[in-house]
Amino acid sequence: MTRPLNAVVTGSTSGIGLGVATAFAAAGWNVMLNGFGEADQIEATRAALEKKHGIKVLYNGADMTRPDEIRALINAAEEAFGQVDILVNNAGIQHVAPVEDFPEEKWDAIIAINLTSAFHASKAVFAGMKKRGFGRIINIASAHGLVASPFKSAYVAAKHGIVGFTKTLALEGAEHGVTCNAICPGYVKTPLVEAQIPDTAKARGMSEEEVVQKVILEAQPTKQFVTVEQIGAFAVFLASDSAAQITGAAHQIDGGWVAK
Ligand code: NAD
Repeated sequence: MTRPLNAVVTGSTSGIGLGVATAFAAAGWNVMLNGFGEADQIEATRAALEKKHGIKVLYNGADMTRPDEIRALINAAEEAFGQVDILVNNAGIQHVAPVEDFPEEKWDAIIAINLTSAFHASKAVFAGMKKRGFGRIINIASAHGLVASPFKSAYVAAKHGIVGFTKTLALEGAEHGVTCNAICPGYVKTPLVEAQIPDTAKARGMSEEEVVQKVILEAQPTKQFVTVEQIGAFAVFLASDSAAQITGAAHQIDGGWVAK
């Protein structure tokens, strides 16, 4: 890809989002970071990426439960970069509990952050991408966008929803050079996965070590975690001209999980 691109990656202060943002920066693209965390840590990450790759890296702390803040995030990126060419809808949270005990506020938060925020951010960039005849929207869904697991009702609903949303955006962008794809990772060792191990242990009556071996790695035939670098590299490919005819697809990076 020779053209300079400008990207917004939601939820990129940690985990997969940070991996994707790092891969974009290494490709020479400007990046707007977003997400929560310690201000000085975020600033150190931002400054280090900018210095290492000689591109612009900015940060905006928009809360993905707030449509006004999501629109302001896109506006800030457009003002700083001139335009947004790539949007990665990545921010997400998880909660593990049987449906009869599932807290209603957790359901609402998961649907808002993991699904509805992608609508607001995509809506804010879509007209500009269509007008310019180029755009890439990449939704970080999950293997749980394609298959279910017990005790993850809100997450599985949100991730199946975002796979459907991906297909609709792909159809609407198809004649305008705008592609939309979902990436469906299996288990990636990030804070999101590490945090659910104790709850999964409780819900399944297992030890935490048993959860890692019998639930997490058991799901993946390769018996290995997916890495954020592998997802970042694939996102760079999806943003390239070589991927112009790849749209509306849900791409598994899951060590064979969904093939079973
Ligand atoms: P993570 O906890 O490491 O990172 C989540 C990011 O989202 C952080 O930057 C966090 O600050 C941000 N975030 C959370 N709530 C937010 C809010 N209200 N507003 C703005 N930002 C917010 O998690 P991760 O594992 O890197 O997950 C990233 C995405 O990948 C999620 O959508 C997740 O569902 C998906 N995913 C993760 C895995 C996995 O195994 N880790 C597998 C499949 C899909």
